[in-house]
Amino acid sequence: MELTSWGQYPRANSELFSPSNQLSLTNALIEQTEASSIARGLGRSYGDSALANKVIRSNQFTHFIDFDVEKGILTCGSGVSLADILATFVPKGWFVQVTPGTKFVTVGGAIASDVHGKNHHLDGCFSQHVLGFKMALASGEVVHCSRQSHPELFFATCGGMGLTGVIVEVELQLLPISSSYINQTTIKAENLEQALTLFEQHYDTTYSVAWIDCLATGDSLGRSLLMFGEHDSDGALEAGSEGKLAVPFNMPSFLLNKYSIQAFNSLYYARVRESESQQYIHYEPFFYPLDGIHNWNRMYGKNGFTQYQFAIPKENGLAGMTEILTRISDSKRGSFLAVLKAFGQANDNYLSFPIEGYTLALDFKLEPGLFELLEELDQIVLAYGGRLYLTKDARMSEQTFKQSYPLWTEFDRVRKEYGADKLFNSHQSKRLGL
Ligand SMILES: Cc1cc2nc3c(=O)[nH]c(=O)nc-3n(C[C@H](O)[C@H](O)[C@H](O)COP(=O)(O)OP(=O)(O)OC[C@H]3O[C@@H](n4cnc5c(N)ncnc54)[C@H](O)[C@@H]3O)c2cc1C
Repeated sequence: MELTSWGQYPRANSELFSPSNQLSLTNALIEQTEASSIARGLGRSYGDSALANKVIRSNQFTHFIDFDVEKGILTCGSGVSLADILATFVPKGWFVQVTPGTKFVTVGGAIASDVHGKNHHLDGCFSQHVLGFKMALASGEVVHCSRQSHPELFFATCGGMGLTGVIVEVELQLLPISSSYINQTTIKAENLEQALTLFEQHYDTTYSVAWIDCLATGDSLGRSLLMFGEHDSDGALEAGSEGKLAVPFNMPSFLLNKYSIQAFNSLYYARVRESESQQYIHYEPFFYPLDGIHNWNRMYGKNGFTQYQFAIPKENGLAGMTEILTRISDSKRGSFLAVLKAFGQANDNYLSFPIEGYTLALDFKLEPGLFELLEELDQIVLAYGGRLYLTKDARMSEQTFKQSYPLWTEFDRVRKEYGADKLFNSHQSKRLGL
């Protein structure tokens, strides 16, 4: 069947396989001879990392297996989503330690992309709160991986985009909370320099994120709204509700143009009047503002869109992002969602994305000339010592990847040692020369 991920680009013909248990998975792996299979969770990666000729879904590995109520350690199937975890455990006073901007991701997908949230500067990536996992190797053997057992396989799998095997079961440390509400402070920054200064001044705040008007120019280049948040210490423990709004079909893509995007960005910035304000909000709108509108990706039309997310080292943050934002604003190709976050130290995983500094994510509608612009941006990112996020990527070149992920050779060595290169490949891994 034809399959796409969140960006609806690219499209691929894939054979889907949903093993009902570990045995049916391992039997299928043993029988397989071609290097053309990849695991897939909820398909919230944007490009082709979860696309291959054969796609192994985790949608039957959705059970909670054990929960240590004293320590908050959850053991569950790799197809369990963060939405499932929050719905069950928030009322009991537990949250996930790291969450991306959607809760509709599986724990297997969160490990494979080594996802980050608004607290990376203090708490690192998702994998840093994973105690261990069981995974099916190309040989059909199921091994337990952790920092102590098969450590190289652990570091290759966290952030390894499904290229080492299929994760089937995960042990996860949850975070104790005493309220499902967040104390949020919103601060307006007049330009990028002010935004980066505010990130540094609020470094001790657990959660931070900025929305940037990427079409603002001149003295206002990089003007932003920054949101800082802490879990409230004494409130109700209520899980969020499912959003009821949905985009029913692919919208005509001409509705998104430089005028509509500019108008939206200006209104969004202007709607906050005070330079600083306080809000008391449920975790749902704080962490998942877009989850309330199902299939919002259809807004970009049937040709789809791509998210360009890069990280840049701290010392080059201002210069690098100024150059990139200037190039984007000159191109008049705006993005509704330009999201800026601060990154803390990198971890030990070979292909994990974050490096200490800043990350910016921008959505672009697929249209002629876009990839030429993105290739220019790639060169700026590389020149400033940065890299692109694999889970958002649909078009990076092999050369850009290998130059910016120097540990790819270690990754490749471990992958070959476990025979994973003989079986697991996505369309992305082939494009990137892995
Ligand atoms: C609205 C939105 C907001 C987002 N915000 C953020 C964010 O703030 N931070 C961030 O880091 N990411 C963010 N993401 C990206 C998302 O968190 C990742 O792409 C995540 O990996 C998606 O999980 P999934 O279950 O949908 O995986 P899929 O998209 O299905 O797969 C992603 C990768 O994981 C591999 N994989 C999946 N399951 C397994 C398994 N069982 N075993 C081995 N490999 C597996 C796949 O092969 C693929 O390479 C966002 C995505 C969306 C749509």
